[in-house]
Amino acid sequence: MAFHKDLSTYFKFQHIGFIISLCSLGAVVASKFPGILTTDTLRIFYKAPTLNFVFWAAIGFSFIAAIYGLLVAENKKTTYINLASIMLAFLIYLLPAFDYEIGQGTITIGLDWLIIDLLLTGLIFTPFELFAPLHPSQSKFHANWKTDLTYFIVFDLSIKFILLAIRFPALYFFTNPAYAQFQSKIQAIPFPLQLLMALIIADFFQYARHYTAHKIPFLWKFHSIHHSPENMDWLAGSRSHLCDLIFDRSVIFMPIYFLGFSTPVFLSYTFVVAFQSVWAHTNSHINLGFLKYVIVTPQFHHWHHAKEKDAHDKNFAVHFPFIDMLFGTYQSLENGHPQSTGVPDPTFPKQGYLKQFLYPFKR
Ligand SMILES: [Zn+2]
Ligand SMILES: [Zn+2]
Repeated sequence: MAFHKDLSTYFKFQHIGFIISLCSLGAVVASKFPGILTTDTLRIFYKAPTLNFVFWAAIGFSFIAAIYGLLVAENKKTTYINLASIMLAFLIYLLPAFDYEIGQGTITIGLDWLIIDLLLTGLIFTPFELFAPLHPSQSKFHANWKTDLTYFIVFDLSIKFILLAIRFPALYFFTNPAYAQFQSKIQAIPFPLQLLMALIIADFFQYARHYTAHKIPFLWKFHSIHHSPENMDWLAGSRSHLCDLIFDRSVIFMPIYFLGFSTPVFLSYTFVVAFQSVWAHTNSHINLGFLKYVIVTPQFHHWHHAKEKDAHDKNFAVHFPFIDMLFGTYQSLENGHPQSTGVPDPTFPKQGYLKQFLYPFKR
C-alpha cells in the first residue's frame, strides 16, 4: 500500500477549517430553529453537553487550521478563506450555543443530517483515498470539488422530500391486504438471507433501469450528469441529476416495498445502498482479492465511468458483478483501471450545478 504521496496536495487545511467552521455555524443555526432545521428521528439522540463538547472542539480545530492556513497562505484567495474562517469562529463564539428546548416538526430541512453525513462520510472514506490512492496526485480539492459538494448538499437537504415522493406511491400500491400473507412469509426468513435477497432483487431492478438510462437518449441526458466527473472520489459519487435520482430510487425501492421486507432489513438495505454508492466512486485502488468478482468495488464502478469507448455501457450493477456477467455487460478487471473518466462530448458542461441541472432540458 502506498500512502498518498504528498499530504498537502490531498488536503488543504484552510479548506477543511473553513468547511468545519461553516458546519459549526450550521449547527448553531439548526439549534436555534430545531423545529424546522433538525431531523425529527435524530433529535432524540441529541444531548446538550455532548453536542457542546463536539461543537467547541470543532470551532477550536477550525480556528487553529485557519491560523495555520494564514501562516502558509500561498495567495490572496487562501488568505481570504482563512480570514473568513476566523471571523466565522468569532461570530459563532458570540452566539450562545446548545441551550435549546428540543422542538417539534415533521417536514423539516435536515441541516443537522447534512452536517453529520458530510463529516461521517468524510471520516469513513478519506482513509481509502489516503492509504490506497488510485491517483496519488489528485487533490481532494480539485477543480470540480465545489460542484460535487453542491450535489451532496442538495441531495442531503432534499432527501426527506425525495423519500416521501418515493414512499407515497409505493405505500399506496403495495400496502394491500392481499399481499400481507406472502409479505409475512418473507419477514419470517432469517435476517442475513432476507437482506441478501433484498440486495440481489433490487440490483436486478437497478440494472434494468440503469441499462435503460444508458440506451434511451432522453434518459441518458439526465443520467449523463452522473458520468460527468473527471476526478473520481467519494464526493463525486453524489453527482446525479435530481430527476435521474428519483427515477433510480423509485425503481429500486419498488420491489423492496412490494415484497415487504422487515424493518431491520429495510434499514440495513438503505444503509448498504448509501455506503456502496459512495464507496464505488472513491479515488482508491483498494484490492479485495477474489472478492472483487463478488461485490462491486471502486475498480468495477470506475470502469462504468470510463471514457474509453470499449468500456462504454459496461458494469451497470451496484452490488453484484455477477449480474453484468449474466447479461454480457461485464468489463474485465484484469486490465487495471480506466485511463480517464467523464463524458467524451467536449460541449458537455463539466461543472456547475445549475448548468448541469438545465442541461437535459436544452435541445
Ligand atoms: Zn451509468
Ligand atoms: Zn457512478
